[in-house]
Amino acid sequence: MNKMIPPKKIVCIFAHPDDEAMGPGGTIVHFLKEGCKVYLICVTSGNANGSSELGEIRKKELQKSTKILGINNNNLYLLGFDDGTLNNNNYHLVVEKIEKILFDIKPDTLLTYNMNGVSGHLDHIAVSMQTSYLFERLKFVKQILYFTHLKSIKKLMGNKYFVYFPEGLDKNDMDLAVDVSSYLDTKIKAIKAHVSQTKNKEIMFLFFKRLLKEEYFKVIQK
Ligand SMILES: [Zn+2]
Repeated sequence: MNKMIPPKKIVCIFAHPDDEAMGPGGTIVHFLKEGCKVYLICVTSGNANGSSELGEIRKKELQKSTKILGINNNNLYLLGFDDGTLNNNNYHLVVEKIEKILFDIKPDTLLTYNMNGVSGHLDHIAVSMQTSYLFERLKFVKQILYFTHLKSIKKLMGNKYFVYFPEGLDKNDMDLAVDVSSYLDTKIKAIKAHVSQTKNKEIMFLFFKRLLKEEYFKVIQK
């Protein structure tokens, strides 16, 4: 466990507004408290069905969420792709846009979903692949952190989730566990900033408080 080199500059790359909070929100707060610079690239507008109105709402929610987590809004990049459209057709278009930003920032570390996309969302899988592609090619990037869920989460989800929910890992197979218990309230506040996504989800927050005291990662270095 914990073979991470402490990052100085980390770029988190996700597909949708709310992935940063629902995913490794506690770890983002942790890194900021450690003095690390944290940037966020959000590839889609989260505009399900191509609705530009929803895209605008979700942009504002994302700005609020990242502010709560402590990320400066100048360090937030929205690429504006349509929700649900990340696939082979625009793979390299997304890569090019991310690459340009990474050249400006020159981070030592990237953070994204593991390759099963955590929840199995195809946009997540695409972004994980695109981030891995850039990790291999950019010399200044020294390590990648893959946000990964525990096996027990799949058991809890059963087959009720709207898409296939992939298998997680045992705790022993993770490379890094970040204790986020002191940041859980901030994480939940950030999740709640995504009002359009979290209405009537109090049960989910109780579940989070009980179960998500740590966030887990696979860590790959060059
Ligand atoms: Zn997502």
